[in-house]
Amino acid sequence: MIISASRIAISGALLALCAASIPASAQVITEQDRPNARPLDGDEIRPPAQRTDPVPQNTVPSKSVLPSIIAVLAHPDDEITIAPILARAARDGADVKLVFATSGNAGPAVSGMEPGDELANLREEEARCSAFALGLPEPTFWKLDDGKLSAKPRGSDSPSRQALAKTTELLTQNRPTVVMTWGPDGGYGHGDHRMISAVVTQSVQSMDNARPDLLYAAIPSGSRPNLPEFEAWATTAPDLVTDRLAYEIRDLEAARAAINCYSSQFSEDAREALPGLLHSQVWRGAVHFRLAFATPR
Ligand SMILES: [Zn+2]
Repeated sequence: MIISASRIAISGALLALCAASIPASAQVITEQDRPNARPLDGDEIRPPAQRTDPVPQNTVPSKSVLPSIIAVLAHPDDEITIAPILARAARDGADVKLVFATSGNAGPAVSGMEPGDELANLREEEARCSAFALGLPEPTFWKLDDGKLSAKPRGSDSPSRQALAKTTELLTQNRPTVVMTWGPDGGYGHGDHRMISAVVTQSVQSMDNARPDLLYAAIPSGSRPNLPEFEAWATTAPDLVTDRLAYEIRDLEAARAAINCYSSQFSEDAREALPGLLHSQVWRGAVHFRLAFATPR
């Protein structure tokens, strides 16, 4: 529970700051509401490597007690679904990394470009712009083939096996406390989203008991905008939403700047409208997640 406690710590830190800036109509829940969530414990929230050191008393939590987060996603712009909390965590001093399995070489969207390397280069630039807007370091790009993560899944060199090997190496080397990715729904069902979710899940479930908390991005039932563009988006029953991580308006503004980086993917009108729509209807002051693996009973 080292990781969960760390996340409570960061959630708790968000609490006081959000109350004044989020509309009263928004439901902002900043604490984890798992029934078996354990209370904060100074020993528990410390990284494993330092757990034998004395616990500092009456000090502001240092960076070492904040969660380290890696978001593993399929395409540049996937991070938008969780953007405010990435900005919030980074602003609070957490180590936050973005990893994209593909560079979006098959998704020209509104750019008018042909699929290929030039498009991938542009989308990587947009992702760097987004990461900068959110206060994150430069993302990692695995450059797997966009739209093909589910291709030839049993092949020895299949994209999914490559993604699995890369994920396991990433998690083993970095030992994050929290991993974020798509849920098994893939958001709106995109095959690459579903596969990266499955790959990350497979990697985390095989780790020892120091494994990170794996969080699936979730839209609680009743929060999906009643618009044709959102018709295919999956929802999650509210009682399965384990984590509601609050953000401030300035984090929403960071998300707005990140969204604005993706001119190849969204029209100007969409970039203008999306942040307000997500804030007022989907996020409502907190980004929602479902914990992948329950605590053993
Ligand atoms: Zn995507």
